[in-house]
Amino acid sequence: MIKVIEDIQLSKNFKLSEFVCPDGSAEVLLDTELIDKLQRLRDKLGKPVIVHSGYRNLKYNTKIGGAANSQHMYGRAADITVSGFAPEQVAKTAEEVGFDGIGIYKTFTHVDVRGHKARWYG
Ligand SMILES: [Zn+2]
Repeated sequence: MIKVIEDIQLSKNFKLSEFVCPDGSAEVLLDTELIDKLQRLRDKLGKPVIVHSGYRNLKYNTKIGGAANSQHMYGRAADITVSGFAPEQVAKTAEEVGFDGIGIYKTFTHVDVRGHKARWYG
């Protein structure tokens, strides 16, 4: 269950509720650079970007077996899909937009703004 007391429009196409931790807690950390770059990615592709995982608190990240220093815990990462685009295609556009970390998985693309370059296949 996702519980947001008051939703906030963060950019033209993204709302705060899309980034909350799936455990339903009210706390959300978000780096504005992540939102800026996601919006640019969305504008380039011209299709809605679905955020499957945004912020994760420590407890939730541990529960799902996330990386110990996961960028999701700092509000700097999102796992996304875009209708009509394969994860590799989304990654290519993420590259153009200037995301720092880009991970290509079978069903989604991880993007983050960790401050240094990182590339991997999940
Ligand atoms: Zn991720």
